[in-house]
This record gives sequence, C-alpha cells and structure tokens, in this order.
Amino acid sequence: MKKEVRKMTESNLIDDCLFCKIIRGEIPSYTVFENDDVKAFLDISQVNEGHVLMVPKKHLVNFFDYEKADAERFLKYIPEIARAIKKSNDKITGMNITSNNGEVAGQVVMHSHIHFIPRWEGDGIKF
Ligand code: C5P
Repeated sequence: MKKEVRKMTESNLIDDCLFCKIIRGEIPSYTVFENDDVKAFLDISQVNEGHVLMVPKKHLVNFFDYEKADAERFLKYIPEIARAIKKSNDKITGMNITSNNGEVAGQVVMHSHIHFIPRWEGDGIKF
C-alpha cells in the first residue's frame, strides 16, 4: 500500500462523507496543494476565481470537533496555502479566509473545511 493511502487508512475517513471521498480520490477534484495532513482543491462553485477549500485528512466535523493537536497539525498550513493561491495570479491583492461551523452558520458539508476566496480591487464580490 502506498504511504499516503496507508496514512489515510489509519485516520478516520468515513464512507459517506463527500470530502473524505475527495481525499481518497473517489471523487475527482482539482488539487492545488496536498501533503500527509491536508488537501486543498478548487471549490466546485467558485465565489470568486481561484476559490479553494482546504480540508484536514481526518474526518473532523468542524472546529468544535478539534483537539489542540488537530489545530496544531492542520491549521498551520493556512498561511502557506494563502500565499500559494495569491502567487498563482498577479491580480490577487487580498483574500477572505473563512470557515462555516454548524448548519446555522451555513455549513453544508460536515467535514471541516476552510474557504480561501481570492479578492482584488473591483471584483464585485459582496459578503
Ligand atoms: O462551508 P460550506 O459547507 O457551505 O461549503 C461547502 C463547499 O463545498 C461549498 O462552497 C461547495 O461549493 C463546495 N463543494 C465542492 N465540491 C462538491 C460539493 C461541494 O467544492 N462536490
């Protein structure tokens, strides 16, 4: 078994979770960043061009589910991914980095994820 697959098997990915399926490669995604801990891929429904989701390679529902070790392991990649996205397109001068936690907060997919939404002057995006 490949190292990456073995690591994922050792974690707690679940069968009927959309993002666990994306992590396992059962559902295709356009990956922009990946390592043993996290995967970042283009959101299927782009709020703005270059909208990326970062997911931990462990099934955590949302931040309420994180232990300190989970935060230390997974959230440390946020600046690196933000910089990589910014570097991918000269017009990006800012970014909204957000996470919806719980249905009432707009969370639709119950596998923790962070939205990276690139911004630039005059992009017309309104939150
Ligand atoms: O924060 P929330 O749970 O609402 O975000 C889920 C995100 O997952 C949405 O932005 C949606 O477009 C994205 N998605 C995706 N690929 C899918 C299903 C949903 O990128 N196959």
